[in-house]
Amino acid sequence: MGQIQMVDLKGQYLRMKEEIDAAVIDCISSTAYINGPQVKSFQASLEAYLDVNHVVPCANGTDALQVSMMAVGLKPGDEVIVPAFTYVATAEVIALLRLKPIMVDVDPDTYNITAEIIEKAITPNTKAVVPVHLFGQTADMESILKVAEKHNLYVFEDTAQAIGSVYTFSDGTQKAAGTIGHIGTTSFFPSKNLGCYGDGGAIFTNDDDIATKLRSVANHGQSKIQYQHDVIGCNSRLDTVQAAILDVKLKYLDSYSAARNKVADAYDAAFADIEGLQTPVRAANSTHVFHQYTMKVKDGKRDELQKYLGEKGIAARVYYPIPLDEQPAFKEHAIIPTPLLVTQQLCKEVLSLPIHTEMDEDTLNTIIEGVQSFYK
Ligand SMILES: *Cc1c(COP(=O)(O)O)cnc(C)c1O
Repeated sequence: MGQIQMVDLKGQYLRMKEEIDAAVIDCISSTAYINGPQVKSFQASLEAYLDVNHVVPCANGTDALQVSMMAVGLKPGDEVIVPAFTYVATAEVIALLRLKPIMVDVDPDTYNITAEIIEKAITPNTKAVVPVHLFGQTADMESILKVAEKHNLYVFEDTAQAIGSVYTFSDGTQKAAGTIGHIGTTSFFPSKNLGCYGDGGAIFTNDDDIATKLRSVANHGQSKIQYQHDVIGCNSRLDTVQAAILDVKLKYLDSYSAARNKVADAYDAAFADIEGLQTPVRAANSTHVFHQYTMKVKDGKRDELQKYLGEKGIAARVYYPIPLDEQPAFKEHAIIPTPLLVTQQLCKEVLSLPIHTEMDEDTLNTIIEGVQSFYK
């Protein structure tokens, strides 16, 4: 068997080749390269899929966060609470807009922030919080919304890793990740659960006013009248070709999530008896779409296991090796109200195994046997 990679984008493409190729060629021959009908069509499909009033397509998941924070009018110096255990993009835009990233810890089991953690970090200057639905499951939004409401905070859900995840409230109501707070953002980076063939992103909201502002900010701050610009905005569009590809792939998103869960279930069962590993803990009130299958490797053996698997031709990656507040870029920006002990521990212990939509039985068994043999 050749090298086993984290993802298999080629295999997935080949399975949908005819449909994708036709959509792309249709787009190229139509010449509607910017804001073509495919963008509108994908927008409508995603609104229906997520059951949300507005989807605002944009250029990537980082822009989605930036446009969101610009649209609600956060001012320099406003504090935004963000987990220190996430991809850099989440906190980067906060610093870029001269807002203050208040970096907090995460729950040791779900790797997500909680209402309790957020509440401890709130000051009179706190204006927003960014729950990141890390690795594919939704943070506990019901309690987070309560804290946010009490303290008048905007809630931006970073859903780059969790599109398709569903959260269940205590009264049984179900909502898609990204549609629960004021604004949700996502990324269509190729390796994300719903990935295009380049960069892409989108913003979700149920609020009509916010949607109007999001569309304006993403389009140079233009109002309804062409060439009239009400606010300073930026240029953030989803490419028509990418929208055409995404409209094809969205139909398969639930089957992608199911395929990922099948791999996760197999890993869970195979590693249940290995004392040195903690397999991912499933949150009680969220489905998991397994953007990553991230285990905790105990007893200081994480790097050793990663190297061992590497020598067997099996990729395994560390998401994320450094707490954001310890990144050189954030040294002068991050504010840390309390020590980030869980984040520090996770950065030493986490290891993600390959998980994707094209995993065959042989590959899966090779990975499982690889991990098991390390512990024999
Ligand atoms: C991928 C990712 C982003 C950024 O998305 P891009 O499309 O690459 O800009 C933001 N937040 C999280 C948690 C991500 O995983």
